[in-house]
Amino acid sequence: MTTGLMQTPASATAAFVDGPTRRGACPTLHAPMQTGDGLLARVRVVGGLLSPGQMAALATLAARHGNGLVEITARGNLQVRGLTPSSAAPFAEAVTALLPVQTGLVVDCSPVAGLDPDEIAAPRPLVAAIRAGAATMAERLGPKVSVVVDAGGQVSLTALKADIRLVALPDQHWAVTLGGSKPQVLDMDGAVATTLAVLGALAAMGPDARATDLFPTRPGTERQPATGPREWNRPLTLHTGQTIPIALPFGSARSSELQSFAEAAKVAGVTTLRLAPDHMLLVDNASDDLIARAAALGFITTADDPRRRISACIGNQGCASGHIAARDIASRLAPQLPAGQHLHVSGCPKGCAHPRPAGLTLVGRPDGIGLVINGRAGDTPEEILDEAHLSDALVPHQGAR
Ligand code: SF4
Repeated sequence: MTTGLMQTPASATAAFVDGPTRRGACPTLHAPMQTGDGLLARVRVVGGLLSPGQMAALATLAARHGNGLVEITARGNLQVRGLTPSSAAPFAEAVTALLPVQTGLVVDCSPVAGLDPDEIAAPRPLVAAIRAGAATMAERLGPKVSVVVDAGGQVSLTALKADIRLVALPDQHWAVTLGGSKPQVLDMDGAVATTLAVLGALAAMGPDARATDLFPTRPGTERQPATGPREWNRPLTLHTGQTIPIALPFGSARSSELQSFAEAAKVAGVTTLRLAPDHMLLVDNASDDLIARAAALGFITTADDPRRRISACIGNQGCASGHIAARDIASRLAPQLPAGQHLHVSGCPKGCAHPRPAGLTLVGRPDGIGLVINGRAGDTPEEILDEAHLSDALVPHQGAR
């Protein structure tokens, strides 16, 4: 699986939204974002559910209208890169005809919500009530405002950032965290009402407002510990059978690889693919042969694949802010990454691929590659490294997580 790509002239994409440096901006299908390799469109598929045929068709569209790179984000959304001003609209039109696309407030729940025997409560009624209640305010809420409804099942949502987080408790109660406040325990009606009240307040404050403006982070809780990849449960048991996770290395695949996998899944009789957090795709009732095919195409299919422990953005191969080819470096370093160690390779100090602290972070800078230990990409590096000696530099830091 390759990560390199052709550059699109910047002048060809000047009419669109500025890139990731613009505060509060989020790309959508109909308002793609300018990046270093053209326009990037994010597709929020309703429920995160696609048939293999829909996935194959979407991969075809990505190659036809974009540069052929498809991503699954940390929140489980699809992204298509390298669109142009002339191809973005026909791409959006074709995708809308192919798939139901979610708009409005982001309310995330597990991709197997309602089918997971480990769930403490049913999350979908809350999701539906919050979406319905927030429908009239969606236009006034900032694009990054989000709600997470976590019913405690097999797919962990703890790493997803949220303005408002609802976590299921026994006896039909929910722990509701507003911004950085202490969680409060409410019944379902109270949890929905409180969520909508806070969303209403944010909508009244305008599109820059976030829940932490109303409920600041408590002193002493700002510093987050270093985090690595989530648990890899394989397979996940569902009420309807089972589903097998595979992951896109560094969240990215070529459309040809995705198309080949989707077509193999269709032939194998798979009916449902689920977009999942942490750059994963869940394949319902997949055979061992199909998962072996995914591995042969370059997808991650095992928990011990070292690429699971590396976060990497596209870097200078698709972002104007990038100083290094982050995913190429990540691919090269993966075989040497000591067991248990989490590495973040970031094109610049913004740290988009892993905003939290990581055991080791390599960050592109104008003067070289910074090494940050147990910190974020924006932290002051311990030293500045030469790209030719990166693997040597990993060895003395094997204890970092
Ligand atoms: S972290 Fe990566 S994707 Fe984000 S702005 Fe920097 S180079 Fe671009």
